[in-house]
Amino acid sequence: MRLANINGRLALRHAGGYLDVETASGGRYGPDPQAPFADWDAFARWADEHLRSGRADRADGAEPAEDTLWGPPVPRPAQVFAVGLNYRDHVAESGLQIPAEPAVFTKFPTSLTGHGQAVTLPEGLVDWEAELVLVIGRHCHRATRETAWSHIAGVTVGQDLSERRLQLTGPAPQFSLAKSYPGFGPTGPELVTADELDDPDDLELGCMLENGEVLQKSRTSNMIFDVRELIVRLSAVCPLLPGDLVFTGTPAGVGGARTPQKFLAPGDTLVTWIEGVGTLRTPTAAR
Ligand code: ZN
Repeated sequence: MRLANINGRLALRHAGGYLDVETASGGRYGPDPQAPFADWDAFARWADEHLRSGRADRADGAEPAEDTLWGPPVPRPAQVFAVGLNYRDHVAESGLQIPAEPAVFTKFPTSLTGHGQAVTLPEGLVDWEAELVLVIGRHCHRATRETAWSHIAGVTVGQDLSERRLQLTGPAPQFSLAKSYPGFGPTGPELVTADELDDPDDLELGCMLENGEVLQKSRTSNMIFDVRELIVRLSAVCPLLPGDLVFTGTPAGVGGARTPQKFLAPGDTLVTWIEGVGTLRTPTAAR
């Protein structure tokens, strides 16, 4: 199943287009893309049955128009976890030690935006970080490796945009604020359930400048703490709530670790992809 937030309304991918969920469900589900997380399992059952039933085939799955406003697939998570230093090659380029525990911070939810939405670059040095983003589907506290994936509704493509000057100024780095300017958490275009993926623990991910060079390219199987381990370690401390997000870290190739350093400039469009999950476009604009 693939879900999107199209013009602020929950939409379900069907064939080449999208079904409006409120219309397709006869009003059983409203238009709010956050609503399925009130009871994710029931929603997933309804969507699955609807797509199999043939009723979906008789409806018009509308292809998104050119001027479609793609919102974040999960617009109002209660908690957003993000993990730093989770790929060995990125730890090495950062000149740091392999962490014994995940390095966890938050991206405040006001930083979230969707596919194709322009991000205004603040003053400073804005860097890219392509990341697999997990969406929690079931309440989860003290999960085990065996059950970890069962708490995940699906995954999406994300960018953990980061203003490096603010991040690294001061006696200790402060990740959360420097990674939370408006638009610094692009996600989407779709939330994709794990059954759509051949191996959800081994996906190519990367990013590039549109019509330009590839900046990052790796596989999620190179994570230091894999998806299961992140769910175990995060939920050992915090209960994870349906609709929460987990940014799982970025591989090597960030701009701040290059010689010379390279950062986003107004007019750049960052293109981020994850194999089988999707491609997220992020244009940037001057202040
Ligand atoms: Zn990151």
